[in-house]
Amino acid sequence: MWERYFSIERRLQRGIHHGHFYWLYQPIVELDTGAVIGCEALVRFKDGSGTLYPDEFLPTLKATNLTWPFTEMMFKHILNEFNNSSQFPDDFKISCNIFPRDIENANIQKLINNNQLVNSRFKFTLEIIEDEYLEHTKVQEALRELREAGFDLAIDDFGTGYSNLKELSNNTFDFLKIDRAFVKDIESDGVKLSIVPLIAEIAAKHHMKVIAEGIEETHQAKELLKFGIQSGQGWLFGRPESFAKLSQQVAK
Ligand code: C2E
Ligand code: MG
Ligand code: MG
Repeated sequence: MWERYFSIERRLQRGIHHGHFYWLYQPIVELDTGAVIGCEALVRFKDGSGTLYPDEFLPTLKATNLTWPFTEMMFKHILNEFNNSSQFPDDFKISCNIFPRDIENANIQKLINNNQLVNSRFKFTLEIIEDEYLEHTKVQEALRELREAGFDLAIDDFGTGYSNLKELSNNTFDFLKIDRAFVKDIESDGVKLSIVPLIAEIAAKHHMKVIAEGIEETHQAKELLKFGIQSGQGWLFGRPESFAKLSQQVAK
């Protein structure tokens, strides 16, 4: 019984009702100036038994069908923090990760009726990892409606998942996020083996802007700029941090 009580599943279920989830924000910057143009919200979990990281609990969340209650709670939490602050300029980008499953089962369409979100002075981006779900015509239609309602869409971890170039040719996405594995491959003395330029080319062809992830070193930022990539995020510019810290960084 104790084992069950302390299982991740139970902890998550209780966490939803008791506020054990919170979000950190990683700055998204303009690579040439370092100016913060937005942020990505990244979830954390902490209860009496300790801290859990997304990689540890997101699979359980998916397996237990808690993805939608979780995502609703995420938007409530984020709106609450940002709406109570005047530090951030209009159109500040707030990028949120969502589950492909909630697109497939149409839960995500409920966001269109969330007045606080669609009338927000901020620009919400929905980050979606590549997934076979995205292929369905119904899903494509749902994504189109979300864009019409004012959300930006980003394809996350590009190049690592189930790649479906067809969905790109439908011009469904505004942003393409280059996975940090490819950024890591950039060599300090050049680009010989990097596929980053190829990804940049694909993005340009489909009218998408590129955001590079996992930039840890100055030379990576420099090379990315040479490839025409203008924005990015990574430890070089800022780790995921509290709302208070992000506010301070933006106010500077
Ligand atoms: P992601 O959306 O690709 O987020 C980027 C991950 O890279 C984050 O891991 C971030 O902390 C990490 N990161 C950022 N910059 C660097 C860097 O310079 N170097 C290195 N080594 N890592 C860096 P995190 O926070 O552990 O999140 C992991 C994944 O969990 C996310 O990947 C996302 O797919 C998912 N996730 C996180 N928060 C949420 C959420 O609120 N909702 C949903 N549905 N998924 C989430
Ligand atoms: Mg993401
Ligand atoms: Mg990513």
